[in-house]
Amino acid sequence: MRKPIIVGNWKMNKTPSEALAFMKGIEEVLTGNEAADYGVGAPYVDLDVCVKNAKNLIIAAENCNEKDSGAYTGEVSVPMLKEVGITYCIIGHSERRTYYNETNEACALKAKRLLADNIIPILCIGETEAEYDAGNTADVIKTQLAGSLAGLTADEVAKMVIAYEPIWAIGTGKSATKEIAEDCCKLARDTVKALYNEATGEAVRVQYGGSVKPDNIKEYMACEDIDGALIGGASLKVESFKEIIDATK
Ligand code: PGA
Repeated sequence: MRKPIIVGNWKMNKTPSEALAFMKGIEEVLTGNEAADYGVGAPYVDLDVCVKNAKNLIIAAENCNEKDSGAYTGEVSVPMLKEVGITYCIIGHSERRTYYNETNEACALKAKRLLADNIIPILCIGETEAEYDAGNTADVIKTQLAGSLAGLTADEVAKMVIAYEPIWAIGTGKSATKEIAEDCCKLARDTVKALYNEATGEAVRVQYGGSVKPDNIKEYMACEDIDGALIGGASLKVESFKEIIDATK
């Protein structure tokens, strides 16, 4: 059985004091006995305060560099995240792919390096609106997965989380229908099965992301191949994240 995983993605929001206020507000609703895992992805400078104040919430980084150290100004390595106590890391988010040229090849290297330190990658994939309109969604999903998982073993992939996030649904309020979300999450799982084997595809957790809110999360969670959600806007306020927890725990 796959344990659902619901992760907020704060993006470039919240100073450390704002992150602390969120942690204090949210931890009181979690007991650790929920049926799902809950977490937030936070900016680098917030990670320490989040980890120190987390009891039951997973704290994820939003990016990492695949190299351990060196002359890479502005970058943060996996050993640095490890020492802070990070257990999950988002990679390949569409904003990073679009604005910072993060490629499938870079995702594969980052995933490999994270897994070597037992940090679970949350690998984001998903098509643009133009690709969706042209009927290319399936090709995009397959190509992104083949490239972003290159060099990873079946055992490594089985531990990962894949977030299917159609770009046209991110931050737009135009969430995918549950049918589209389920079809694409199932396709992602089937692609993992084809690249590896049945057991790996059954083990990997697949999230849907894109305008997930307290009032629509339940319908996604009811879908067979959707094991959780990656949530941007609705994860920023304690109240709405609490509503999401209440709707799914
Ligand atoms: P959104 O963002 O929930 O605000 O659409 C999702 C994401 O970018 O992960």
